[in-house]
Amino acid sequence: MTGIDSQNLPISKDGLIRRGFGLKDAIADELDELYVSDIVQRIRDNDYQWEVNGLRFRLAREFGFCYGVDKAIDLSFETRRRFPDRRLFLTNEIIHNPRVNHRLLEMGYQFLQGQYAAGNELDSIRPEDVVVLPAFGIEQRLLARLRQIGCILVDTTCGSVVHVWKRVERYAREGFTSIIHGKWRHEETVATCSHVTQHPGAHYLVVFDKAETERVCDVIRTGRVSEQLARDFVSAASPGFRFDQHLSRIGVANQTTMLSSESLEIAEMVRQAMIDRHGAAYAAENFRSFDTICNATQERQDAIKEMMRQPPDLMLVIGGFNSSNTGHLCELTAPHCPTYHVDDVQRLISPTAIEHKPPMAHDLVVTHDWLPPRRPLEIGLTAGASTPNRVIGEIIERILSWSS
Ligand code: SF4
Repeated sequence: MTGIDSQNLPISKDGLIRRGFGLKDAIADELDELYVSDIVQRIRDNDYQWEVNGLRFRLAREFGFCYGVDKAIDLSFETRRRFPDRRLFLTNEIIHNPRVNHRLLEMGYQFLQGQYAAGNELDSIRPEDVVVLPAFGIEQRLLARLRQIGCILVDTTCGSVVHVWKRVERYAREGFTSIIHGKWRHEETVATCSHVTQHPGAHYLVVFDKAETERVCDVIRTGRVSEQLARDFVSAASPGFRFDQHLSRIGVANQTTMLSSESLEIAEMVRQAMIDRHGAAYAAENFRSFDTICNATQERQDAIKEMMRQPPDLMLVIGGFNSSNTGHLCELTAPHCPTYHVDDVQRLISPTAIEHKPPMAHDLVVTHDWLPPRRPLEIGLTAGASTPNRVIGEIIERILSWSS
């Protein structure tokens, strides 16, 4: 790396920077101004509720920024301060929140992939550039290429994601195929899969839900593989994956932000299918499962389940539309009360119109008369792990501005 020794950087043995540069105090005011909300803090201090003008706001007891997101944001802001004159790149979105990513764009970060990329090619990276790796981690191949270039690499990968990598690598070393409950396109799962395939001969298969798992279980039970099945899973399986060969020893893991109850059910479905085919003794030897949902996801889901014991009149779930953990929070609230997933305050167009993403849907819709005029009215609020409290606070303020 260019001039790296003289710069006294906190570089790990593997050449990546994972610790801050001692600039936490220097960025504290900026982060507070951008992401902290006094109104949210007041509600939290008031036992997570606040009543005003007949409106009762109720906050889930766990919501918003998680430890991994905090670290990723801190490190990316510190990196800007530490390298004011260098070109800064992000391999993709640092986390799934539009406001945070836009801010990084404003700070001069250039994105190499994803919706914020503006045609920046990997080949344009030079050794003196600084490249930040997002909280989801990156593919091994991309990491190898960046190492080859010799640029400064700042790694914000969350420790909980690294935990999943270690799990699937262990499966791979021991000759188990990894079945990963996740979204095969999601950055985290793409990175996880690359940790499997770095082991020669190791394989993975990504299943999104119970319906997909049932199709895989059918193969395990019967040994019958249709061409259609192989086609449907082609993007979700490792290169060279054979349904008829690579499902005899299986280890289950999951993307950190999936619905935990579903992940547990999926592991049990696979285990049961192996027992049906080969018997309990074989399954005990050749099936492994490890719940790799992260604590932050689990706590936010548990808090929502608790809240839904007494559902509010409506629920606002706040977070990026591509945020997996936010989407799952919506799935948990939607059976209990009208649920509106919004990513930022401007989606609340007026008391009679809201633009939002319905649970499990791909496209945004506008719903009219979403905010009933009756009082009292209880509005529940939660936010995904990548949502700044400032966004929640602005949403509360907008609703209040209509009711004064
Ligand atoms: S949601 Fe979980 S895995 Fe993702 S950054 Fe937060 S703590 Fe880490």
